[in-house]
Amino acid sequence: MIDCIFCKIASKEAPAEVLFENDKVMVFLDINPINYGHTLVIPKDHYKEFHEIPDEVNQDLIVVTSKITKAILDSLKPHGYNIFTNNGRSAGQAIMHCHFHIVPRYLNDGFKFRPYPKSYKKDELKQYGNLIREKIRI
Ligand code: 5GP
Ligand code: ZN
Repeated sequence: MIDCIFCKIASKEAPAEVLFENDKVMVFLDINPINYGHTLVIPKDHYKEFHEIPDEVNQDLIVVTSKITKAILDSLKPHGYNIFTNNGRSAGQAIMHCHFHIVPRYLNDGFKFRPYPKSYKKDELKQYGNLIREKIRI
């Protein structure tokens, strides 16, 4: 049994601000965002790195990532966005359960990979979750 926080979020043993889920993937807000609305898309099953994920799961991952990106654009109106996945410690992977980051970007927002600069105040996590959830069309 792997002790993995993202497996626990996927099985609802650990809390998260969940934006969307189906049988293969789960989407939730990053607890320590680069910018507010920074979102993570994960396979529900545990795969450490991207190349290990089966094609049928990747199909859902990429389509859901696209739909959630649209919801982030519609709700938060960022100027742009980054989508990335860190694989392996050398690439900056901290949680060894593969995930896609969707990061809303603003002109001159001072983006830094590490340390991720922000945290949510009380109720803010849910407020951002509500804003994005309202715009999801899947
Ligand atoms: P990595 O460096 O592995 O690509 O990114 C891991 C991400 O997971 C980081 O952005 C970090 O803030 C986020 N994270 C770590 N633990 C938790 C958690 O328990 N809940 C949520 N929602 N995000 C987490
Ligand atoms: Zn896991």
